[in-house]
Amino acid sequence: MAALAVEVFAASDVRSVRLWRAPDNTRLVFDLSGPVQHSVFTLSAPDRIVIDVGGAKLVTQLDQLALSNTPITGMRSAQRTPEDLRVVIDLSAPVSPKSFTLAPNAQYGHRLVVDLFDQEAGAAPSLPTTAVATAPQVPVTPTQAPPKLAPVPGGKRAIVIAIDAGHGGEDPGALSPVKGQFEKHVTLAIAKELQRQINAEKGFRAELVRTGDYFIPLRKRTEIARKKGADLFVSIHADAAPRAAAFGASVYALSDRGATSETARWLADSENQSDLIGGAGNVSLDDKDRMLAGVLLDLSMTASLSSSLNVGQKVLSNMGRITPLHKRRVEQAGFMVLKSPDIPSILVETGFISNPNEARKLASASHQQTLARSIHSGVRQFFQQNPPPGTYLAWLRDNGKIPQGPREHVVGSGESLALIAQRYQVSLAALRSANGLRSDVIKVGQTLQVPTAALAVQP
Ligand SMILES: [Zn+2]
Repeated sequence: MAALAVEVFAASDVRSVRLWRAPDNTRLVFDLSGPVQHSVFTLSAPDRIVIDVGGAKLVTQLDQLALSNTPITGMRSAQRTPEDLRVVIDLSAPVSPKSFTLAPNAQYGHRLVVDLFDQEAGAAPSLPTTAVATAPQVPVTPTQAPPKLAPVPGGKRAIVIAIDAGHGGEDPGALSPVKGQFEKHVTLAIAKELQRQINAEKGFRAELVRTGDYFIPLRKRTEIARKKGADLFVSIHADAAPRAAAFGASVYALSDRGATSETARWLADSENQSDLIGGAGNVSLDDKDRMLAGVLLDLSMTASLSSSLNVGQKVLSNMGRITPLHKRRVEQAGFMVLKSPDIPSILVETGFISNPNEARKLASASHQQTLARSIHSGVRQFFQQNPPPGTYLAWLRDNGKIPQGPREHVVGSGESLALIAQRYQVSLAALRSANGLRSDVIKVGQTLQVPTAALAVQP
């Protein structure tokens, strides 16, 4: 027992300090040789943050950090006793600090994380398109209508695609056998390329959820998408598996109950772990309505699940033309990042970064372009068939400018053929014959052709 106590109180070394700048906060990560006690407080006139770390000494320099674009103007340290370290951060503006410690993981040892949140400059009401960087953290409450962008007077609004580059900052995502390559870099490169392609197409606008190398908690990613007025949420990832030979792309939609396969369950666990790496577990403790919000979310989610499966299947079949597929069907798993009511959401695993061959391909700009093009094609096909009212694409469709094939519906769990017929206002017999069905037995994930409704039913 005595030996244990000695270990606990032995001084830890602060071996390095890393810094990440996000649009609304600055994250400092102190890499430690062991666990520490700490406290953080603010001082004003001039604005400073003081971090006291008990049982630690600094064995690195604080002056090589890139501080440009942050409110930090300088960092100093003092050893108050041989085992009590004080770090003082000089600031150009007041910030709200939040801090927590993280236990070692596969990549890093013990860490102390200090997030410095920018305080809102001026009290001007923010517009939905610009509010993201400085919006206060509020619980997701589905009772608030998503702020869809108002139609431009005399024009038709664009369809908004929120593109979420997985991981970022402190959370590198999956590791690659290619030296220096992390999932977070690949996902951002593909996301940016997809944004460029979508923005080049009239009637669409793409918004990046993450624009640089910093971490965003999972729940906040969907919040950002909602504030951008997204019609679709696409999360970009690269897979990893213990088996280096595993290969191929996959597309996931949310599962309303459980995961469709063991792999999906395992993957959902490891992608959701991301929040623990990023420390969001601590942050979301502030969010007291989480339970209620969660219940409401689950209720309103079923509506967008069918759309998610539909767009997912289109993306998957386009990707299947340019890269091997891991699974031929859209898989369903309980990804936190896909839990956005009213916004159809998919998660695209672009390939296995743990596979040396695919890791090399994922790092190449030409393959990133090809992947983005296939995702773009699937997204375009989905919205050509299902344009939201008031959009330029809906106008094109209503004026016969989009060649109309039959509509498609991907069966969600709990849906019966009768329910689907009712939803599209077609007869059960017409739906059966359009799909050559001999019985009303349908499978989750199955794609049905929906015949055009009779004009008579339109009011
Ligand atoms: Zn990932």
